[in-house]
Amino acid sequence: MIIAIDGPAASGKGTLGKQLAAHYGLRHLDTGLIYRAVAKTLLDAGHSPENRARAVAAAEAIDPTRFHEPALKSQAVGAAASLVSAIPEVRKAVLAFQRSFGRTPPGAVLDGRDIGTVIFPDADVKIFVTATPEVRARRRARELREAGDRVNEAEVLADIRGRDERDSQRAVAPLKAAPDAHLLDTTHLDIDAAFRAAIDIVEAVRAGRKRG
Ligand code: C5P
Repeated sequence: MIIAIDGPAASGKGTLGKQLAAHYGLRHLDTGLIYRAVAKTLLDAGHSPENRARAVAAAEAIDPTRFHEPALKSQAVGAAASLVSAIPEVRKAVLAFQRSFGRTPPGAVLDGRDIGTVIFPDADVKIFVTATPEVRARRRARELREAGDRVNEAEVLADIRGRDERDSQRAVAPLKAAPDAHLLDTTHLDIDAAFRAAIDIVEAVRAGRKRG
């Protein structure tokens, strides 16, 4: 089974992805980490995240064993990831990795921006997670604070609005819900309630498939 979860920054899709994967015994890939890893390689080497040639070279050499590095989660790396991810050749370079991850048995939950639209248009279940920018900024600020970053919530909100705008306006693989995605608005849901709502969606899709 392949479950595609898409949505804007800090909508809760990563947490949901992890929980759904554990619940169904699937593998999990937070695809934002791919673009964050590419961005961090560029930043560490002193290159601009808009340096096309360097970004493509970094994308071709991604190393998934480094995806757990806490530094990938910083706000600066997230902002740079939003820039490298708008480069079409970067997206092309990391496509096969994502497909092969998802197709490896027993299947996977992948979360990102274009999983249900581009990477796995034929995913078994597609969920598009949303929440208001204010709620997402509050959650992300809390996460960053817990990770030891000094954060200003107004700045986090501005960053989230900027990323929403860039991610949904870009020419290639923009952030948008697939026509057959199930919408899950987590604005008023805590983590447990969002998880239960996601399970309900997956179970309803599976039941519908059995009947049909
Ligand atoms: O989800 P996360 O905040 O880690 O993603 C960082 C950036 O990577 C996003 O702002 C987005 O530009 C990009 N991204 C993407 N496609 C994905 C996942 C992330 O373009 N599938």
